[in-house]
Amino acid sequence: MSDLLHVGCPHCKKMNRVPAQRLSDGPKCGACKGALAEGAVAELSDAEMPGYTGKSDLPVLVDFWASWCGPCKTMAPEFQSAAKSWRGQVAFAKVNTEQAQQASARFGIRSIPTLILFRNGKEIARQSGAMQASQLTAWLRTQLG
Ligand code: ZN
Repeated sequence: MSDLLHVGCPHCKKMNRVPAQRLSDGPKCGACKGALAEGAVAELSDAEMPGYTGKSDLPVLVDFWASWCGPCKTMAPEFQSAAKSWRGQVAFAKVNTEQAQQASARFGIRSIPTLILFRNGKEIARQSGAMQASQLTAWLRTQLG
């Protein structure tokens, strides 16, 4: 059991290589010393999005949102809570569609919130509309199961 996984740091977005069995062990980022797998949600820019979703060995769930969107605000604490329950298994990230307009255009985001689940940089599932943490978890289980 010495599989090294690429895990993106939710704080500085650098890729780290972490032995799979250490993921539940509070690993720290080699660059910024931030916690790698404690359920922090990464805020991704246009520039950070391809590397963060494409190089990660963990599936990455991205929430496309905007500050003017009421349901997005309602969902934010639910998303944060789901991120904690899935720590070490799924990386959670957010893209502000007002700032990261290239990413929003590339993925054809028409309504928000929209969640896209990536594995090895490829979209494997998408869901629009706000969800509670329990619904999010059920949906993720279906997609990853
Ligand atoms: Zn870092």
